Amino acid sequence: MNKIDIKSMDIKELSEFIESIGEKKFRTTQIYKWLHIKQVISFEEMTDLSNGLREKLNEKCCITSLNTVKVLTSKEDGTKKYLFSLPDGNIIESVFMRYHHGNSVCISTQAGCRMGCRFCASTLDGLERNLLPSEMLDEIYSIMKDTGERVSNIVLMGSGEPLDNYENVIKFIKLISDENGVNISQRNITLSTCGIVPNIIKLADLKLGVTLAVSLHASDDETRKELMPIANKYSISEILEAVKYFFEKTGRRITFEYSLVAGVNDTIEEATKLGELVRGINCHVNLIPVNPIKERNYRQSGKDAIKKFQNHLEKYKINVTIRREMGRDINGACGQLRKSFMENVQNP
Ligand code: SAH
Repeated sequence: MNKIDIKSMDIKELSEFIESIGEKKFRTTQIYKWLHIKQVISFEEMTDLSNGLREKLNEKCCITSLNTVKVLTSKEDGTKKYLFSLPDGNIIESVFMRYHHGNSVCISTQAGCRMGCRFCASTLDGLERNLLPSEMLDEIYSIMKDTGERVSNIVLMGSGEPLDNYENVIKFIKLISDENGVNISQRNITLSTCGIVPNIIKLADLKLGVTLAVSLHASDDETRKELMPIANKYSISEILEAVKYFFEKTGRRITFEYSLVAGVNDTIEEATKLGELVRGINCHVNLIPVNPIKERNYRQSGKDAIKKFQNHLEKYKINVTIRREMGRDINGACGQLRKSFMENVQNP
């Protein structure tokens, strides 16, 4: 029998479960606190429950936890990259970053990814599996434990496509922002998607307070198709319609991510097309100098080209930032650490 993943339950589900096993309702808040505030990893540690109840829970449920395989710490700015292993042997990557406005954690939402973006290391070996809500929480909880620091911002920008693991990601967002748990404001959570249009619309209808970031990376469908296979399914105009709808429903400003690849999408003409496309949308454009991976021969645009691209876009009265590179000394593109670890395990 598969055990119940108790950490993925919200308070209501937990309370129903507690009642269903013949226990008093008030046990719910006790157990929820142990899981999400004290963040214990065994029922034994829940010392205000009777032995009998602890045993009963242990028989029926499991508490997920991650094993830390490797931590790389930047000497420049304290950024930490974590490699975690899951009980089934899958490996995931998360990153802890210190900013003046607080600590931010970048989490993975899937082990691997099936979106196939050409410049991304996370997708090279395809999708292994979706992460459970509890496993995404564990990325945060493990990092809070290791650093001893509070986390105030979360970005869903690690391995995986959040909207390809829709139900679990929504559950995770609700749990991590729950006032009975870690209580991270939804306004401080950014969900980044390659643009799965129907799920952007579903997300809009939920009216959560999260920020939506959309990986655009091109200003016409042909160029976008070269970089992102998902562009064969949804056009840029469908994406723009969906983000406008998201803004209407939530009032949240959209972020567009645009990775600059030398000779592919970094010319002034491209900046003009991008400006024309997104003007009039309440948005912010985040330019990301592409982080080259060894499996592909994409090159980063030069500093000058990036600056010119930014200046040109700003003429459209668009707020444009260039993503600051954190932890340059431990840098590697998203998913590269995981990938090199897996290769070493397979060919030691
Ligand atoms: N699946 C989500 C999250 C991916 S990672 C998405 O597509 O948005 C977050 C951002 O980093 C995305 O914009 C992604 O396209 C970008 N990215 C991935 N690998 C990169 C690389 N090597 N260089 C620059 N940006 C990269």
